[in-house]
Amino acid sequence: MTSPASLSSRIPGTLFLHAPGPTRLPPQVVNAMGTQPLELGDPALDTLIAACESGLRRVFGTAQSDVFMYAANGHGAWEAAISNLAAPGQCVVVAGSGTFSEAWALHAEGMGVRVQRTACEEGHAADAGAVAQLLRAESAREIVAVFVVHTDTGSGVTSNLQAFRDAIDAAAHPALLVADVVASLGAAPFDMDALRVDVAIGASQKALMVPPGLSFVAVNEKALNVARNNPTPRVYWDWLRRKSELSYRKFCGTPPQNLLMGLHAALGLVFEEGLAQVIARHRLLADAVQAAVQGWSERGDVGFHVREPKSRSVSVTTIAVREGIDPEALRTLARERFQVGIAGGLGSLAGRIFRIGHLGDLNAPMVLGCLAGVEAAMHASGIAYGPGVAHAVRVLAGPLEATRGEAALVEAALVETPAP
Ligand SMILES: *Cc1c(COP(=O)(O)O)cnc(C)c1O
Repeated sequence: MTSPASLSSRIPGTLFLHAPGPTRLPPQVVNAMGTQPLELGDPALDTLIAACESGLRRVFGTAQSDVFMYAANGHGAWEAAISNLAAPGQCVVVAGSGTFSEAWALHAEGMGVRVQRTACEEGHAADAGAVAQLLRAESAREIVAVFVVHTDTGSGVTSNLQAFRDAIDAAAHPALLVADVVASLGAAPFDMDALRVDVAIGASQKALMVPPGLSFVAVNEKALNVARNNPTPRVYWDWLRRKSELSYRKFCGTPPQNLLMGLHAALGLVFEEGLAQVIARHRLLADAVQAAVQGWSERGDVGFHVREPKSRSVSVTTIAVREGIDPEALRTLARERFQVGIAGGLGSLAGRIFRIGHLGDLNAPMVLGCLAGVEAAMHASGIAYGPGVAHAVRVLAGPLEATRGEAALVEAALVETPAP
């Protein structure tokens, strides 16, 4: 006799995707991507590309910068920044923030660029003071750029980009400020022009709710001039070749049309909700998750990996587990028994943490469902935890005015970038 459980492997309902990317695709994005590709000479293709460029400019908070898009993941956009800005043998500073800053540093070294790293203290934001010191001491003025990861997705830490701007200014150093905002774009406040970030790097599959495979850089005039003087041989990544009115040139070949259709739909959703509201929603949902983690931590088995609350990301929360608890077993249980997909630890954090992504196309009950699923998995694993979901409910059920007030504050802080 076959037992009912083995009759079907179908799992009803929804798998809750709570990795910090790729994130859930809104149906509007899925539908847009199901459209037939266009013939390469069709002016509708130029219109689509122009709309994506201007939408991305708004999200990046830049009026003047050029936006270049690549049929590539985020690592492709890293390579674009490295190959356009620094020649082999030249030097960049990478501010240590965790797994992603280290991967970016190794990527630059792999391309022959020399890297000076600032130390990364586990559970803390990147150290702008150390960058200031390094730049002040560098009298030759040969450092080309300072690379900072805004939200380091591996550790769940968000660093203060303004502090890095101030560090470069205080040292009166000509180095460019290059920010990886892959995990924070469209989730945390970011204003490229106000911060005088020279190059900003984003990708499709995080808060922008598009499948992986599309990445983009916003490049200001100062950075473009550095690229002009950079002799590094490059073709596919080259900003100057891509600075063209022809869509075939913009993409160094056939544009990834269906991803662009998805991006166009996603940007439409962002502007329909309002960028300030999207950012306020991410703040609120992050507050709910973090209130739950605070509650869970009362019994000592789990707790925050990131020490200062202000450095905790609005996109992903990293939860440290007591020695002896296997977060990978918890993840498997959460996924297979409770249909909640959460992330594990990368690099030196493997086996020590798990991560809950809370970015993109999410609302309050989805976050509550995820938290309840994680609680259920902790319960089934014998992990001790204090009340979490109840704390999250309290945050989410707080006065509506507080949420609206948050959006108004974000609105006031965002310098509205006019559509070009
Ligand atoms: C996801 C991510 C990347 C890399 O993206 P891939 O698409 O996996 O290459 C880079 N930086 C940050 C901060 C990220 O979160």
